[in-house]
Amino acid sequence: MSSLRSSRLKRVAVLSVHTSPLAQPGTGDAGGMNVYVLQTALQMARRGVEVEIFTRATSSADPTVVEAAPGILVRNVVAGPFEGLDKSDLPTQLCAFAAGVLREEARHEPGYYDLVHSHYWLSGQVGWLARDRWGVPLVHTAHTLAAVKNAALAEGDTPEPAAREIGERQVVAEADRLIANTSEEAKQLIETYGASPEKTDVVAPGADLAKYRPGDRAAARRELGLRDDEHIVTFVGRIQPLKAPDVLVRAAADLLARDATMPLRVLIVGGPSGTGLERPDSLIDLARSLGISEQVTFLPPQPPDRLVEVYRASDIVAVPSYSESFGLVAIEAQACGTPVVAADVGGLGTAVRNRETGILVQGHRTEDWSSAIRWMLADKHELVRMGENAQRHAANFSWERTATGLLASYEKAQETYAGALGRIDTQTTTKVDAMHRLRELIRL
Ligand code: UDP
Repeated sequence: MSSLRSSRLKRVAVLSVHTSPLAQPGTGDAGGMNVYVLQTALQMARRGVEVEIFTRATSSADPTVVEAAPGILVRNVVAGPFEGLDKSDLPTQLCAFAAGVLREEARHEPGYYDLVHSHYWLSGQVGWLARDRWGVPLVHTAHTLAAVKNAALAEGDTPEPAAREIGERQVVAEADRLIANTSEEAKQLIETYGASPEKTDVVAPGADLAKYRPGDRAAARRELGLRDDEHIVTFVGRIQPLKAPDVLVRAAADLLARDATMPLRVLIVGGPSGTGLERPDSLIDLARSLGISEQVTFLPPQPPDRLVEVYRASDIVAVPSYSESFGLVAIEAQACGTPVVAADVGGLGTAVRNRETGILVQGHRTEDWSSAIRWMLADKHELVRMGENAQRHAANFSWERTATGLLASYEKAQETYAGALGRIDTQTTTKVDAMHRLRELIRL
């Protein structure tokens, strides 16, 4: 067991209301956050900290509790209908969800959970209540922010409602500590959401570096039924306007319009999510209207063991998102030695080193994307050099390191809390009084 284990931390309640860590990422509402929640839980459990993850049950077949791995329980809380509840209607079920979480805790001795870590603002709302009831600190990770997303909407995308930003601001004010993926996200939390810099920690996400490693490209292509004599440029992720796979399809059409003999293949891996350009069908239509249907291959969402082959098989992985708080796909691809062409937005500026491990493109103009891809494909040696750099760069982003950062933040949260409680003890007699005083102190 690692010496990094927090001596005062036995069990953490992790809240992930809208998406289960056990769901297949890459479609619907399941993406990087699911991977983040599961991978950090695995690291915590390895260090002797038990994790109980609360998520909303989305099927009548979901058992009440699942042991995801030793030391990790996933609790499926019934809150609203199993299927068919739109993400935009989830706020109506927060009360029911909170009740499920509070009832579970009430079945145990007081002090069963040492800390609450909420993911995304919906969970933050529930975490805020749980923290006040249980008298333990709340650590919150936003993952994405409405104000940031709305400032960089893709064409045809629906703006996030004002209610979300109000909810986010409340959670930012209430949380004892905030985790930002990058210093840029910390700046957004501080400048746009008024977060206190003293309670904001930057902890980078990671990749499963034992799984995402370079491998035999030809074997990976054989495994996926792809040809060996083509340039393969790949998109991996949820198909939605924000992720902008259409930017890659248009860039490919532009490249082929300039050189019809170019052996180019676009590989799109993932499933529909959200509104607008969400259906792979609409990308199929786009490819057809641009006359490049033959050069575009679609694969449904892939589990990690297959995804590693996708990254290995690709010459370049493209991440054209309009906004991205980090971009796990960029790190996973680089860990496999594949350079990345990414939009220079949000965390992608940290995940990719321009001209070293790939290219960061300003904006989403077709010509800029096609010339970046053309430049990368033109020089095989340069592509190999970037791939090697990419692997070295990705080695800085492990889930072990993320867990170390989270534990440091948890400790700070506990210290602040214990310190405040210690000061109260001399002045108050009951826990309820103490909690009221604590809230006052935190607000001072
Ligand atoms: N993913 C996957 N299979 C797929 C597509 C994506 O497992 O077919 C995973 C991918 O490995 C990554 C996550 O989904 O860990 C997407 O995270 P990212 O941060 O790139 O985007 P997000 O979904 O958070 O917007």
